Formats: sequence, C-alpha cells, structure tokens
Amino acid sequence: MRKPLIAANWKMNKLVEDATSYGEDLIEKLKAENVDLKKVDVAVCVPFIHMAALKVIFLLRGVGVGAQNMHFAESGAYTGEISPAMLQDMGIEYVIIGHSERRMYFGETDEECAKKLKAAHAHKIRPILCVGESLSQREAKEHFDTVRRQLTGCFEGIGREDAAGTVIAYEPVWAIGTGKTATSQQANEMASFIRSVVEDLYGTDTAEQVIIQYGGSVKKSNIAELMSMSDIDGALVGGASLDAGEFAQIVNFDPDVVGKEQKVR
Ligand code: PEP
Repeated sequence: MRKPLIAANWKMNKLVEDATSYGEDLIEKLKAENVDLKKVDVAVCVPFIHMAALKVIFLLRGVGVGAQNMHFAESGAYTGEISPAMLQDMGIEYVIIGHSERRMYFGETDEECAKKLKAAHAHKIRPILCVGESLSQREAKEHFDTVRRQLTGCFEGIGREDAAGTVIAYEPVWAIGTGKTATSQQANEMASFIRSVVEDLYGTDTAEQVIIQYGGSVKKSNIAELMSMSDIDGALVGGASLDAGEFAQIVNFDPDVVGKEQKVR
C-alpha cells in the first residue's frame, strides 16, 4: 500500500526566528493531533537558509526537511546555486523539482528537471516533481497532453527504480495560491491519468508504487475529501502550510480511510 506524503512548501517566506518557532510548534501540534508518523510521511520544504535549524529540531522526530530547488551539477561555477551533494551532506530528504513558479519565473524546462531528477536520486534525495497545466491549457482541453509531455520530458533517462521513488505532484497552475482548488474529481482524474502515463513508461508495478500528490489551495477543509480519492496519495501545500497548527491538521486527515480507498483500486 502506498504511504501518503503530506509536504509543506513555504516558498520564499519566514525569517530565521519564525522558522525555529514553527519547527517546535509543528512537533507539538502533530503530537496534539495524535498523528501517527508510521502511517503518513511529513516533509517541510523550506528556503535553504532554514534547513539547518529545522534539521536539528526535527532530528529523530520523523519529519523530513526538503529543499524547493537545487542545481543538477555536483559542484562548480554556478554562482548562487545549491548542489545535490550539499543537500545530501546536510541530510536533506526531499527536493521539489519543476515547481510551476520556477518554470514560470526562472525558465526551468523539462530537460533541466530530468537532469535534476537524476541528480537527486544519485544523492538519495527524494524528488517531488511538479507537473500541471495552465488555465488556458485546461480551457483548450490540452491539460492531459500538457501533463503527458511534462512527464515524458522529465522522466527522460530515468530508470524504473528511480521513477518509482519519485513523488509526482499534480499542481494545476490555476489552483496555486488562488484559493481555487480543483474539484476532487478533477484532481483524481488527472492523478489517475498520471498513473497511466507512468504505467506506459515503466509498467504496472511502478505505476502502482508511485506516490501522486495533489497541490493547489489545499487546506484543512478540503484535505479529507482529496485524500479519499483513489489515486491521490498526498498533498503539496503552499499557503496553508505556513501556519504550523493548520498544517498539522492537514497532516491529520484519516489515513485509514485512504488505505481502504487505495486497496479497492
Ligand atoms: C504550492 O506552492 O505548491 C501550492 C500548492 O501552493 P498553494 O497551496 O498556496 O496553492
């Protein structure tokens, strides 16, 4: 059975003091919510400067720390960048790759994402690969083609085992930070399409193993319904993850219900 992953994406938010108090607060709130970390994986993806402090706070507490980007090269003349070797050295467990904001504002391409995916796996960092269509692509009914193209490009040269260990986050661009969530049916329809593309590329076993998240205005009021869908195995949460209390409540959806849904797939 696929273990759900709920990941926070702070984007470019919080100062050092806020990050430290958030980390401590999150541990308390997860305890207060009685979250069983054996049943759900939790990660907090933060700006690079906060990673060291959170690694210390989360040490042996079962919450992973993630980066929001990285370069694909081992080291070298790439001023301003962070390498996969640096993240691994710090014990970072996750890295977001190809977030739509990076594609939009920093021109990140599927080809670069493929190199980053490969580098992340080579360094034992679990990538969270973001794919998703824009509003105009959805309106033109190009959403499935768009997502298929992104997946095919990003998985270029990636082996079966690494594909199975890649988390895929379906994030329709029109739902990110807009307060507009895709309906759970829309989200599940695309998650199931993504699984079918993974099946075409790598076979049924890999498709059954791969964790597919939904992201786009996830909050405590809509997480349970999203997580009850057959092909949604987790969430990537932006705005609502900035509050430790709300994020802990999002993590505390009912994983037993999800387990049942997934078994009947
Ligand atoms: C995100 O940044 O990945 C995201 C889904 O943001 P939000 O939850 O704010 O829409």
